[in-house]
Amino acid sequence: MLLIHPPVAKPSEPPAGIARLAGALSAHKIPCTLLDANLEGMLHLLRRTMPDEPPDTWTSRAMRNHDRNLAAVGSAATYRSPDRYKRAVIDLNRALEHQSSGIAGIANYQDPALSPLRSSDLLRSAQHPEQNPFYPYFSMRLRALVEKNHPSVVGMSLSYLSQALTAFAMIGFLRNTWPHLKIACGGGLMTSWMRRPGWNAPFSGLIDCCIEGPGEAALLGLAGIHETDKPHAPDYSSLPLYEYLAPGPVLPYSASSGCLWNRCSFCPEHAEDNRYMPIAAARAAEEVKQLVQQHHPLLIHFLDNALSPALMHALIAAPPGAPWYGFVRIGKDLADPDYVRALKTSGCVMLKLGIESGDQGVLDALSKGVDLATASAALRTLKNTGIATYAYLLFGTPVETRKEALKTLSFTEQHAHAITFLNLAIFNMPVGTPDAERYGTGSFYEGDLSLYTDFAHPAGWNRREVRRFLNEEFRRNPAIAAVVKNDPPFFTSNHAPFFCNR
Ligand code: SF4
Repeated sequence: MLLIHPPVAKPSEPPAGIARLAGALSAHKIPCTLLDANLEGMLHLLRRTMPDEPPDTWTSRAMRNHDRNLAAVGSAATYRSPDRYKRAVIDLNRALEHQSSGIAGIANYQDPALSPLRSSDLLRSAQHPEQNPFYPYFSMRLRALVEKNHPSVVGMSLSYLSQALTAFAMIGFLRNTWPHLKIACGGGLMTSWMRRPGWNAPFSGLIDCCIEGPGEAALLGLAGIHETDKPHAPDYSSLPLYEYLAPGPVLPYSASSGCLWNRCSFCPEHAEDNRYMPIAAARAAEEVKQLVQQHHPLLIHFLDNALSPALMHALIAAPPGAPWYGFVRIGKDLADPDYVRALKTSGCVMLKLGIESGDQGVLDALSKGVDLATASAALRTLKNTGIATYAYLLFGTPVETRKEALKTLSFTEQHAHAITFLNLAIFNMPVGTPDAERYGTGSFYEGDLSLYTDFAHPAGWNRREVRRFLNEEFRRNPAIAAVVKNDPPFFTSNHAPFFCNR
């Protein structure tokens, strides 16, 4: 089998999805090849000689220095100088954009002619793979891999919208060149599409098998092995751990799928009714420890929507042996100095926290299950203990008005000294929620695969006003502005932990 992680996704760590599938396949001695086409494709684009001269001196400098900038992003010293880091990353993005005629960057892919939210555009991308900016790379690379390894199945892992158009271009190329190949496509994005109301299998003529949910059982089934939902440790051994854009290897690990809380009314996990499927905490902690002994990562990235208290206790009891970070839910334990000190001793360098709002009424109406007094105490305790925080705020939900948004501003200002990084998001209404039926207008953003629906805010606090509030008031608050500017461009939370021990 050949398993592919397509461009574009942040190239700071190896792809966890295909590594988990490789673990399941290798446990059954099924040969498989992993291809991180995202990392390879970006490096190919950066190093390719283009016929056109760069249009300006900035682009020219970015092109000339791309190897130096890659080395800078791979060096720990650069993270001690945020301005130097920002210059290197912004220039790398500039060079990528130039090499892809403005379509691809480090973390985004925007084709003015095609939308990843329209199935007809994805099929068009498959029909004309030669128009994709990664075509020179993937046509050559796939040809070499298929001719060398003769896979009978190719699995495409699709997690982000920024991957979709190139994933389909690669599928189209495979389909045209080797019509006998069986093509499967799964991953988080494919799962969300398949669970979306009105899914009508638009890719059935192109893809042999669209996979919903964890893909291990389906891929093993294609190889004639029947096994249901048995967890296997990920296998990173064939991925180039030292070549990612980070100052050392980062090991992503997922100890669960779904969410243990699964009640927030604004959340796609809740809207899709995804089942919470954890790996037993002791087993997950042991797997991580073994992976650390095998690969010596600089950092462990827990991918769970929220780390379970059981897993955090297991990490405290048996630290994994490398620094780690991940999402957690705010609870009383995070306000307990002894518990937080123990977390720090286990290697925790940063926690991502969904605070969402500074108004208790909004939090309760969203079923967030967060108490603001506890959040305040947790932020202080984490700050005093030396664990960095990446706080997520959400504006423009149907239960928020300007009055509540101002309370969020005030809460954030009061806690700015204890928040290390901030993510500000404007609410999107997931399709399939009761709120979508209540407030939705029935029109979808852009296309038939959109996971969000347009909605009429009951109090007129619409996206335009929210955006203006964020740009003209929230971000301009001096205390908040100082936190916002900490956010690493493009890589955001993926690189944030490297700035935490300065
Ligand atoms: S805790 Fe996070 S992942 Fe879980 S339901 Fe709430 S927003 Fe979604």
